[in-house]
Amino acid sequence: MTEGRSRDIAGMEWADLKAAVKACTACGLRAGCTQTVFGVGDEHAKWLVVGEAPGADEDCQGEPFVGRAGQLLNSMIAAIGLKREQVYIANILKCRPPNNRDPRPEEAGLCRPFLERQIALVKPRLILAVGRIAAQNLLGTETTIGRLRGTVHKLGETPVVVTYHPAYLLRSPGEKRKAWEDLKLAMSVAKTVAK
Ligand code: SF4
Repeated sequence: MTEGRSRDIAGMEWADLKAAVKACTACGLRAGCTQTVFGVGDEHAKWLVVGEAPGADEDCQGEPFVGRAGQLLNSMIAAIGLKREQVYIANILKCRPPNNRDPRPEEAGLCRPFLERQIALVKPRLILAVGRIAAQNLLGTETTIGRLRGTVHKLGETPVVVTYHPAYLLRSPGEKRKAWEDLKLAMSVAKTVAK
């Protein structure tokens, strides 16, 4: 990734940023996906939800967190007293990896300036990282999700709380209680941060 590219992206407003993502071919993923999935929601949201990457439904619809996992994410958002439209939702990667494989470090690195600019423009009170891949990429760590949960991390000045991915919770409904603990932690943090 060139410094110039990162600097250019860091100076973009929403319209240019959306156009840059749409036109991006910086990594090989764009060649294999249907469309880029930029992000969705309130561009001045207090909460920013960060997931991993588009799956099949997201690739088809061009929106993050649709399908069954998206419905569960909506329920999680409702549990904190908000509607989906009141948060901002984005992914580490804007293009779907083939067969939903994990993002490669070089792909996540090339896509990172887009997410960083989204975070800078939204200026959320809190980032909720959903799933191991999102949390590890966002925080630059290989620590397990079990250890990342339950602690307030920081990305610059922004607090980050980690919870399970809704797709995992669909497979392991017994873990929903832990996800609720994470959401309660996130709510308590969000209340203390001015915006
Ligand atoms: Fe560009 Fe990100 Fe898509 Fe790769 S995943 S082509 S860096 S938008």
